[in-house]
Amino acid sequence: MAKFSDAPTHAGYDVVIVGGGIMGCAAACFTALDPGFQGRILVVERDPTYEFATTSQTNSCIRQQFSNPLNIAISRFAAGYLRNFAEEIGDEAAPAIRLDGFGYLYLANTPEGAARLEVNHAVQRAEGVAVDLLDPAALAQRFPWMVVDDLLLGSHGGPDEGYFDGAAMFEGWGRRARQLGVEFLAAEVVQIAHVGNRVQGVMLADGTVLGAGHVVNAAGPRADRVAAMAGVELPVAPRKRLSFIFEAEELAGFPLLIDPSGVHVRRDGTGYLAGAAPMGSDIPRDDTDFAEEPDVWEEKVWPLLAARVPAFERLRLRTSWVGWYEMNLLDQNAIVGPVPGLENFLLMNGFSGHGLQQAPAMGRAISELIVSGGYRTLDLGPLGLQRVIEGRAFGEVNVI
Ligand SMILES: Cc1cc2nc3c(=O)[nH]c(=O)nc-3n(C[C@H](O)[C@H](O)[C@H](O)COP(=O)(O)OP(=O)(O)OC[C@H]3O[C@@H](n4cnc5c(N)ncnc54)[C@H](O)[C@@H]3O)c2cc1C
Repeated sequence: MAKFSDAPTHAGYDVVIVGGGIMGCAAACFTALDPGFQGRILVVERDPTYEFATTSQTNSCIRQQFSNPLNIAISRFAAGYLRNFAEEIGDEAAPAIRLDGFGYLYLANTPEGAARLEVNHAVQRAEGVAVDLLDPAALAQRFPWMVVDDLLLGSHGGPDEGYFDGAAMFEGWGRRARQLGVEFLAAEVVQIAHVGNRVQGVMLADGTVLGAGHVVNAAGPRADRVAAMAGVELPVAPRKRLSFIFEAEELAGFPLLIDPSGVHVRRDGTGYLAGAAPMGSDIPRDDTDFAEEPDVWEEKVWPLLAARVPAFERLRLRTSWVGWYEMNLLDQNAIVGPVPGLENFLLMNGFSGHGLQQAPAMGRAISELIVSGGYRTLDLGPLGLQRVIEGRAFGEVNVI
């Protein structure tokens, strides 16, 4: 990842982006690439090593199996974009982005769960997604290493679903944005000035005041705190997640398996990567807490994995880490676009565990708002803050 400066070179910018994770870099790169944009962009990042950023803790997968057609369209755009990454960013030196299309496999073991898979399947097929509904016999045939006795139904997706190299996308955007003149500043935004229906600029922790034509909130799990600086209430809160990498027997055709328990597992190089929420309910916690929780592996994840895939009774845990979802508590879906009443304050928040794959569409959307004042390609209006203000969910039920 390229360098950050210690001081801004100007007193004001056309665009100030708060947060330089995947969303901030996407917004910066798409905007700088837009032929209609001639201004200055500043990305302000309080953690320039990205040690604590959600982008560094991600599992980096993409899927088409959403319940919401707009999320399907967002991920379909991403799959095509990733395959043409160097061309899209106009950088021949950019690496190709690997996409291992092993498909997601959602499993249901209750009538309600099976009914939900069927409803989602109808939505997905109507959107042209390649996805198969499989009964237990078909599941046993396609995945002979899996216990299917308790299952009623499974849903397996196609080659646009699986792992992709999100780190390469992140680095590619960061490098290209810098080539195009975007400044990256190591600093913390502590205040957002706003008068009437416009934000005016930001104040940094050292007291520096910077003018801004637009301010973009790309602050990940801290999005609620950044929004509050402009008097905006955002129902986005950090939720702890645990990831585990382990070695075990190689199993042919292994997908991204989502057990009905919520534990999920996929191939990861020569091993496997599993993920889960902590024990008990998904309660608010302090997002500076990166403490590992060994009980979760010993008492929850490993037993559930071994019950579903007997070969996982024998495995070796290699490493694990903690990460934080930026969870939208209203409907577990992105909150994107202008704040009603503060039209030059733009949000890209609340991605609830599916943000990495949404970053291309979100970066494009923010650039369109900045350059044209409205969406030119995919209309993300339904994901705007207005629905939150009205308490109207625009939900995603396939949240992992
Ligand atoms: C365990 C885990 C697995 C995941 N797996 C997937 C997956 O498989 N597929 C998928 O699509 N998504 C996945 N996600 C979600 C995805 O990783 C996130 O949605 C995405 O990385 C969020 O990016 P971001 O830029 O919004 O946030 P971040 O990466 O957290 O970046 C925000 C940045 O803002 C900075 N910041 C905050 N406040 C300020 C301030 N006041 N001033 C300056 N800087 C500030 C922070 O330091 C941070 O670097 C996963 C997430 C986790 C935790």
